[in-house]
Parts: sequence; structure tokens; C-alpha cells
Amino acid sequence: MYRLLPMIKIESVRAVEFTHPTRRSVDAAGHSHPGPLGTGRQALLTIRSADGVEGHCFAPPQVVRPHVLNQFVRRVLVGGDALQRERLWADLEHWQRGSAGQLTDRAMGAVDAALHDLIGRTLGVPVWQLLGGYRDRIPAYGSTMCGDELEGGLSSPEEYADFALQLVEKGYKAIKLHTWMPPVRFAPDPGMDIKACTAVRKAVGPDIALMLDGYHEYSRTDALRIGRALEELDFTWYEEMMNEQSTSSYVWLAQQLHIPLLGPETLSGKHYARAEWVKAGASDILRAGVNGCGGIGPTMKVAHLAESFGMYCEIHGNGAPNLAVCGAIRNSRWYERGLLHPFLDYDEVPAHLNAIIDPMDSEGMVALPTGPGLGEQINFDYIARHTEATY
Ligand code: MG
Repeated sequence: MYRLLPMIKIESVRAVEFTHPTRRSVDAAGHSHPGPLGTGRQALLTIRSADGVEGHCFAPPQVVRPHVLNQFVRRVLVGGDALQRERLWADLEHWQRGSAGQLTDRAMGAVDAALHDLIGRTLGVPVWQLLGGYRDRIPAYGSTMCGDELEGGLSSPEEYADFALQLVEKGYKAIKLHTWMPPVRFAPDPGMDIKACTAVRKAVGPDIALMLDGYHEYSRTDALRIGRALEELDFTWYEEMMNEQSTSSYVWLAQQLHIPLLGPETLSGKHYARAEWVKAGASDILRAGVNGCGGIGPTMKVAHLAESFGMYCEIHGNGAPNLAVCGAIRNSRWYERGLLHPFLDYDEVPAHLNAIIDPMDSEGMVALPTGPGLGEQINFDYIARHTEATY
């Protein structure tokens, strides 16, 4: 005897755009740095069922703008069954092909995450349990912001070393450096990257796992030089040092280094492109995140693809959807907690939430949330009071 779960009929899809205070500013190349208190903008995407249950996902407003919701998302979702999320995702992918780039992987990712949230909230179960329930806590790595020119910030190898020690004191057992990139005056500079990595290794000793995610457009020869230094420093992985569109460059580098290369992170193509990377031998560790890979569904496919080839799949980025994937799979070693900077308090609860999703204990562990769905504790009152547009 079996019985089907009753349909979770999708009644509506909407997004609200709201403002919130932020101390992050964005430089000319799009990297986040500490800044004066300013105003940020986000959207909350909400998928509501006929039973009145709602699934949510935060996204940049432009990702879920009216054209995207009207032209693609509502056409596919409204009237459908949220439990058929694989079919809904496939229908979105069909629309994506002819959308001339308007329906992005990122939009599909937000929709897919909100669908998972809706299913979890309807059933009263955390998404990470629905997906696999591999573990209820995971070690975090502290992921620094890119380097800057702020005194006492991340402007020198010594400041990276000082900050790394602070992170170890907080409990982190693993730290990933993002080093200097343009428009920082002296960036990119392989010599400076090596100096920062050397200073951090010297400061934290041999027992802390270290990774580098430096400038993403190095030449093969600069990338090789840095990689050889990282091998001497016993780094755990080396990430997106070259343009990921050039698979051949990664194959070239992987053949000359024994430090594990990790990727691709920003390359488009979802699980399909990652399968090609495995086949080509372009990385030793795979990479996927819910935002960039088109959702929780395709990110799980990448993780299982990697598992099938005996590879780790390290999940890109923080936040509730990525944490849910980390809790569901066995071949990810860390959750990415960041971005971190000496001037910012990552544990400060944003105005639009009642709690952060990923508090870390003194052992460097993050517990998977116990609430239903993605477990996000959203401050709906705050969002209602700061809504600038509804669509
Ligand atoms: Mg990265």
C-alpha cells in the first residue's frame, strides 16, 4: 500500500523589493568591502500554495524583476504542483533557452529554493532532511573579503595574518583568503598573494586548513607560480585563479600541480558544464552553489556527480539554500561562512531577519536549522515597513 502526497497547488508568485541598512559597499569591480552605513536593496520572492503556505527566497531585485516573473516564472508555476519541482525546473529550463539571457540561472535558483522552502514548510520538515539528511552540523570555513587599502583592514600580508588569528580564536578550523583584485592600486600581484598566504600560514600554524581564491584572471604562468607556493604552504585547495571559460587552462594547470584545484564556480552551464570539467580533468574538487547553478536541484546533481567520481563538491556561498545542500550531502567538507572582514560583524542579525541562519560554535561548527523549509527566520514586519515595490 502506498499513498501519494496531496498536491501542493501553486496559487501565486510575487516579489517585494525592500530596503535595509548595510555597512557593505561595492567597489568598481563589484567586490564587497566595509563602507559607511548605507541602504541596501533586496527582494523577497514568495511562492504561495492554495493552502496558504508560503515558500520564500531572498534575491537581488533585478533577478526577480517583473518581466522575469511575468514572462517565465508565473507561466510555468501558477496552477502547478510544487511537489513536481523537477518538472517545473525542466519547464523553466525550456523557457530559458529562448529567453535571450533574460531568465538567468540565478532567477531559476531563487525560484527553485523558494519551491523547496514551500514543500518543507508544507510538510513541516527541514529541506536538508528532505534532500538527504546526511548530517545535522558541518564545519565552517571563514571566507575573507577581497583585499583592500583600508588601514587595519586587509591591506597587507600582516593584516591578513592578524585577521586569520582572530578567526582561529573564534573557532574557525579553516580559512579561505580572497586576496587583492583591481581596482586595488597594486593588484593583481602574484608576489603579494604569495606573501599573504605565507604570512597567514605562519600565523595559524600547520593545523588550520587554508585555501586561496585570488584574482580570477591570472595567466597560466602566474597561476602556476602561485600554485607552487601554495603547495609549499600545504594549502587545501586553489580556487578560480584563471578565467573558467578556458577549460584547457585548468587542464594545463592541473597537470603540473598536485595541490587540488577547485572549480568551476562562476562558469555558466549548471551541472552539464561541471560534467565536462570532470571529463576533461580540469579540477580535483567540484564547485556548485544554489545561486549560480540554477537552484538546489542542479546543485544536488553536481554533488552526486562528484560523489560518483570520488570527488568532493564544495558548496559555493553562504545562506540558507546552500546550507541545506551542505546538510544533505556527504562529499562536502565545509560550509562557506562569509564574507568576513575585521571591520564587520558577520553575526550581527540583518534587519530583515530575526536570526542568522548559520551561527557558529566555538569548535567552528554550524548546526543545520531545525525549522521547517529552509529554516530562515524572516522579519516580515520589517520587510512590510520597508517595502518599496511589489510585483
Ligand atoms: Mg570563489
